[in-house]
Amino acid sequence: MTQTQHHDIVVIGAGIAGASIANEILARGHAVCVVEGAATPATGCSSHAYAIAHPHIARGSPKLLQLTRIGFALAVARWGKQWNHKGILQPAKKGHTFDVGVMGDHLEALGLDPKMAKAVNAATAKKYSGIARAGVWFPDGGMLNLAESCKALLNQHSKLNCMYGSSVAAIKEDGDHWILVDEDGRDWVRAKQVIVAAGLNTKPLLASVQIKLPLKPVRGQLSFFKINTTSTWAAHLPSAIICGDGYCLPAERSEKDAIRWMVGSSFDENDDDVEPRTTSDCFNQEQAAGLLDFDEGDRSELIPDGQFVGVRCVAGDRLPIIGALPQRPGIFVATAFGSRGILWSALAAKLIADQALAGDFALLTRLGFTADLAAALAPDRFLAGALPPSLGALASNSKPIFPSGPKAK
Ligand SMILES: Cc1cc2nc3c(=O)[nH]c(=O)nc-3n(C[C@H](O)[C@H](O)[C@H](O)COP(=O)(O)OP(=O)(O)OC[C@H]3O[C@@H](n4cnc5c(N)ncnc54)[C@H](O)[C@@H]3O)c2cc1C
Repeated sequence: MTQTQHHDIVVIGAGIAGASIANEILARGHAVCVVEGAATPATGCSSHAYAIAHPHIARGSPKLLQLTRIGFALAVARWGKQWNHKGILQPAKKGHTFDVGVMGDHLEALGLDPKMAKAVNAATAKKYSGIARAGVWFPDGGMLNLAESCKALLNQHSKLNCMYGSSVAAIKEDGDHWILVDEDGRDWVRAKQVIVAAGLNTKPLLASVQIKLPLKPVRGQLSFFKINTTSTWAAHLPSAIICGDGYCLPAERSEKDAIRWMVGSSFDENDDDVEPRTTSDCFNQEQAAGLLDFDEGDRSELIPDGQFVGVRCVAGDRLPIIGALPQRPGIFVATAFGSRGILWSALAAKLIADQALAGDFALLTRLGFTADLAAALAPDRFLAGALPPSLGALASNSKPIFPSGPKAK
């Protein structure tokens, strides 16, 4: 019979969430074991090679605004040098009046300096992106290949142990440790701390320790369109990333008479079918017209020529679930990243490493991360009897600490 392995810290899942957290733990000098059901990292939602990142700027939902600002700052620090296609334009909504000065004040009030987001008129937008639509320009926004990033984060390291091709079937308690049970029902890995970053599968894994999380699948399809250089679309295509209702990448010349252009994505709730669909391509053709404000464009000239389909994991309240589970000391959760895998992975890496390794939260606090924001992300927001924010939200579940004044500033 195989012997149970022992590790101090185990991460379940080698998607962008698990890989970022494991990498942060290594960077702080600790050993970590990553357990992944698939044969390689990033085979799930994180096989996405065209993910974009920028802060959220719409009015309302102040916590989301603050959290995306912090997540974006951390993501730029972690991956900014690897961005493909730097710079993103978010055009103003059609039919809404747009004033550069008013928008500039709004961005400043959100704590976004002009390096993060600046209001631009149509002429400046055209210069930056090829699209003459006033809006907000994110100079430091960009696109990341999640699959490549996962592999880089889990590069060989003397303190990193990766076990691929091995799924965890359940978690069970063993005194002040946790045991990961394999698919044959055997006690497989014993650990003091377990970080569950298994996307939608976080739900059954936590159910095995009687924790119920409201996670659901949201299917998404990106479409790659082939466009003839003689098409009327050709003169309207962007030279930078454009986002709004959906997003698109800069158009690229793929062969002599053709252009390749990616537009996404559909948002199909409670759907986990990864087969490409013609209806989703049609949906993306409509999004394409909306993003470029080119309603008269002939949709049939956007010829579907490949797709990426993934299944996002989303929580009931649309915020990610990141943090310690005080009800199950030693278990941490990082899931429900929805369409913001880059921002939430960067944030989860810092927050969970601080909680699991009893860090001082200094960087997060300096960026404006408060106990209230931690409580908005904490898994126990869905559970009865959650601790009040000032006591439990930032703290590790094994050693409660709150950042002290001078150190935290
Ligand atoms: C169409 C689409 C467009 C998107 N666009 C963007 C975007 O522009 N920007 C952005 O930031 N994000 C975007 N996202 C979201 C992003 O892709 C996800 O948020 C992110 O990949 C989720 O990462 P994860 O690590 O949480 O989950 P996953 O990548 O799914 O990783 C979970 C891992 O856990 C493993 N696992 C599961 N169960 C077990 C088990 N029992 N034992 C062992 N291992 C297990 C799985 O094999 C998998 O590797 C998009 C998603 C889609 C679908």
